[in-house]
Amino acid sequence: MAFGEFDLIDTYFTHRWPKRDDVVKGVGDDAAILTLPSDSELIIATDTMVSGVHFDEQMPARAVGHKVAAVNLSDLAAMGAEPAWLSLALTLPEMDQEWLEGFSHGLREICDYYDCHLIGGDTTKGPLTLTVTAHGFVPQGTALRRDGAKPGDWIYVSGSIGDAGLALAAQQRKVQISDSHYRRVLERLYFPSPRVALGQALRDIASSAIDISDGLKADLGHILQASNVGARVDVDELPLSLALTESVTAEDAIRYALHSGDDYELCFTVPESRRGVFDTVLARHPAKPTCIGRITSEANKLRLERNEEPWQGADEKGGYDHFG
Ligand SMILES: [Mg+2]
Repeated sequence: MAFGEFDLIDTYFTHRWPKRDDVVKGVGDDAAILTLPSDSELIIATDTMVSGVHFDEQMPARAVGHKVAAVNLSDLAAMGAEPAWLSLALTLPEMDQEWLEGFSHGLREICDYYDCHLIGGDTTKGPLTLTVTAHGFVPQGTALRRDGAKPGDWIYVSGSIGDAGLALAAQQRKVQISDSHYRRVLERLYFPSPRVALGQALRDIASSAIDISDGLKADLGHILQASNVGARVDVDELPLSLALTESVTAEDAIRYALHSGDDYELCFTVPESRRGVFDTVLARHPAKPTCIGRITSEANKLRLERNEEPWQGADEKGGYDHFG
């Protein structure tokens, strides 16, 4: 008998998966049955990855499995949520067991790590497409949102930004970088680490938050728009990795950090009144948040500055088309 849909689900998505007590019934019925913790709110995020659009055939199956979960967990992190469950819609052009083995391995690894349970999904035949829906919780009323930033709040970014964009540019041969830097930034493009612990730690501290999926400029822009505020950002304060600063010019490194996406760091704002708590609790957090600027009252205005003067690189394109 041919290897069919039920064998696929059984082989790759049922066995060896983490089990949570709040899953009454997961994969294997018409729908999942889940127990909700009391005094909590459910946080739900969905993201799709399409072959040829969000990734190409160079990307290992294990990385595809990791990343499609990671981008969803990153959205939960940006809300301050604790991840609990995932569902997966998988569209496959053919039954490729080697690919499925790698994909399910990558997905399972990250689910295991974050104690997230695959609770169901769907498989269909068609162009390779993956859709994950992630579910998590926050204590009632504590979710981080984009619309809470106020003038005077400090703006932070976790980790470093621009690496995934550099990896993509190097892969497309738009820039030449050393093998060791390439390995490092490719790891960030293929295996992003969602800032789940940081997001939860920020629930009582940050006034707004977003994950950086489309580039700092675009994603901070979403906070500014939702909160009806502006921002001043010092481009020399942007957290850049050694791999980035040693691979391109200083000005290009800033452009990568501002415009390239896929880093899945968090950008968030902290009111002056919470800054002492923030410094005490989070200054030594492994996600190493860096203060990059301050929220202003000028609605939707992002000022990129150097030494309090407008940054000259802001508008000049200079034949730079890596992000087109
Ligand atoms: Mg997001």
